[in-house]
Amino acid sequence: MEKVTMDSLVSLCKRRGFVFPSSEIYGGFAAIYDYGPYGVELASNIKAEWWRHMVQFRDDIVGLDSSIFTHPKVWEASGHVKGFSDPLTECKNCHVRSRVDHLLEEVGIQADEKMSESMINELFAENLDKITCPKCGKNKFTEVKKFNLLVQTNLGNFTGDWTKDPTYLRGETCQGIYINFKNVLDSTRVKVPFGIAQIGKAFRNEITARQFIFRKREFEQMEMQYFVHPKKDMEEYEKWREYRFQYYVDLGIKKENLRWHKHENLVFYAKEAYDIEYHFPFGFKELEGIHARGNYDLTQHSTHSGKDLSYIDPVSQEKYIPHVVETSAGVDRNFLMCLSDAYNEEIVNDETRVVLKFNPRLSPIKVAVLPLSKKEPILKYAEPLAMDLRKLYRSEYDETQSIGKRYRRQDEIGTPFCITIDFETENDKKVTIRERDSMQQDRIALDQVSTYLHDKLGF
Ligand code: ATP
Repeated sequence: MEKVTMDSLVSLCKRRGFVFPSSEIYGGFAAIYDYGPYGVELASNIKAEWWRHMVQFRDDIVGLDSSIFTHPKVWEASGHVKGFSDPLTECKNCHVRSRVDHLLEEVGIQADEKMSESMINELFAENLDKITCPKCGKNKFTEVKKFNLLVQTNLGNFTGDWTKDPTYLRGETCQGIYINFKNVLDSTRVKVPFGIAQIGKAFRNEITARQFIFRKREFEQMEMQYFVHPKKDMEEYEKWREYRFQYYVDLGIKKENLRWHKHENLVFYAKEAYDIEYHFPFGFKELEGIHARGNYDLTQHSTHSGKDLSYIDPVSQEKYIPHVVETSAGVDRNFLMCLSDAYNEEIVNDETRVVLKFNPRLSPIKVAVLPLSKKEPILKYAEPLAMDLRKLYRSEYDETQSIGKRYRRQDEIGTPFCITIDFETENDKKVTIRERDSMQQDRIALDQVSTYLHDKLGF
C-alpha cells in the first residue's frame, strides 16, 4: 500500500484508544497527549524491548531511575540554563510560531546550533525570499529570538515570586545518569567500559506543536550513557551505531524506512554525532541520536560540584575522566514509528481491512478469545481458556457483536492471534486459531493452545 498518512494514524489512535489529546474535554492542551488503554500497552512493550536489549542482554550495562526534579545547578553545569534554546520566529500574518532552523531546513540550509541570535537573524534574512509560513504561505516574519526550552517550576519556592531561583523539570534524562556516575561506580562491580541506562520523562517548552506525538512538551526518553577509556571512544562509538541500527531492523522495522543522518555542525565538545532517522508520514526525521560526547558532561559536573568524577583503572591505576557514547531514543517517536510501519490497509472480500502488523512483542494484546455464541456449551470452554491465557499473555475476552467485527477490531489493534470456540468444540475438544497477517486458521486441541501460542510467538 501507499505510505500511510498522518490522518489515518491519528484517526486510528483515537478510534481504538491508543492516543488521546490531553485535557480534551477542556479543548486540549498543545503538544501534550495521553496514552489510552492500548497505547499504554504499546508504549510499555516498546520500553520493555529496549530494556531487554540494553540492560537484560548485556552484563556491561546497569539501570537507573533518577528523579525528574534535580538540583538547579545540574542544569547550569550541563549548559542548559544558558544554551538549551531554539530560534523562534512568528508569522506576522497568521501569528503561527516556527522554529527557524526547521524553516531553513525546508529550503536545504542547515543552521548551526551554536549560532548567536544575531547570526541566525542574518542567515534567516539572507534566505527569506525562499521561506514561507507553513500555515498561511506568507513570508513576513518577526525578528528571530532564541527561546530557552527548559520548563521552570516553583518547587520549594515559597516567596511568592515565581521568577526567583527557578527549578526545572528535567529537559533530558541523561543528566540524571551523569550525576549518579560515582554512586553507581561505588555501589556495583561495573568497570570501564560500562553503561548506565534509564527510561523516563523529559520536558521541553517546544516552540511548535504540529506533529502529533512526534514533538511533545512532555515526552519519554530511553537513554544510555556508555563510559569508555578516552582512547577507545570512537571504537565503541562505531559498535554502538551498529548495535542500535540493527535493533530496529530486528524489531521488524522496514529497513528502507531507516537511514543515517550525520550532524555536520557539532557542538564544541562532541566528536561525532549521527541520528537514526525514520521515514514518518511527514518525511525522514530523527528517531534516535547516537553521539560521541567526549568527557564534557562528567568534567562539567566535576567542576561545578567540586566532586572528583574521574575513574581509576583497577589494574593499571590510570586515572582519567571517561568519555561518553550516548544513545538517546524517544519512546513517543518509537511509538509513532511502530504504528506507521505496521499500518496496512488490505481489500478482503471487497472490504477494507485495517491491520497493524506489529512484531507480536509489541502488540498491546497477544491473544483474543472469541466465543461464537453466549450459550453454555461454548462458554463452558471459552471462559476457562481465557482465564488460563490471561496468566500467560495480555489477552482479551470478547463475546459481543458478529465475529467479523470482532476480528476487525483485533486486526486494528494488531492482535497476532484470535481463538474462536464453536459448537464443535464440545465434540472434538478443539478450537480455531486465526493468525492476524495470513488470516490462516488452524484447528488446535484445547490442551495444546498454550504450547501452540508459545511456539508461534517465541515467548
Ligand atoms: P529535535 O531536533 O527533533 O528537536 P533533538 O535533537 O533536540 O530533537 P535530543 O535532544 O537528541 O533531540 O533527544 C533525544 C531523543 O529524544 C530524540 O531522538 C527524540 O526521539 C526524543 N525527543 C526529543 N525531543 C522530543 C519531543 N519534543 N517529543 C518527543 N520526543 C522527543
